[in-house]
Amino acid sequence: MFEDHRAFIHLGTNLGDKRKNLKTALEHLESFSGTICSFSSIYETAAWGKSNQPDFLNQAIELSTKLSPFELLYELQSIEQKMGRARIEKWGQRIIDLDILFYDDITIDYQQLTIPHPLIEQRRFVLEPLLEIAVDLIHPVHGSSIQALADSCSDQSQVLQLRDDR
Ligand code: AMP
Repeated sequence: MFEDHRAFIHLGTNLGDKRKNLKTALEHLESFSGTICSFSSIYETAAWGKSNQPDFLNQAIELSTKLSPFELLYELQSIEQKMGRARIEKWGQRIIDLDILFYDDITIDYQQLTIPHPLIEQRRFVLEPLLEIAVDLIHPVHGSSIQALADSCSDQSQVLQLRDDR
């Protein structure tokens, strides 16, 4: 039997019915990638890196998975394709973006797959959802907790936690 691994995935969407996109992506993740152990609230954030586009909704989940890191990346990319994401421009509008933030405490450094995901510590829209579900997690490269990374993050962008009924 393959062992279960613990992965953290970040979801982002800023096209169409954004709440529905997150829900659909979570359903696909449960069907194809593993079991969702915990998920953060949904956060609304201004687009990062390219500002003249709609705000994003972001969410983070913890996934228990038997997939290897590359198998997981492949599944995430298939979900993005199934949901109709066209890769038009870097940081452009997207129906769904799925990134592997952490996978156990491993580090991988290929262009195709970098784990931990680069720049986690510079992006408040990644750190805030993670803080809700990954209090015990230590970044395997920086050796710091997510709380410590959030405390020292210089990104001042507004990341708004949405209530469920919004
Ligand atoms: P993006 O357009 O931001 O979704 O970037 C997608 C590209 O990043 C793909 O070519 C992936 O192979 C690559 N990539 C590298 N590391 C990761 C990661 N940790 N999670 C998801 N995609 C990654």
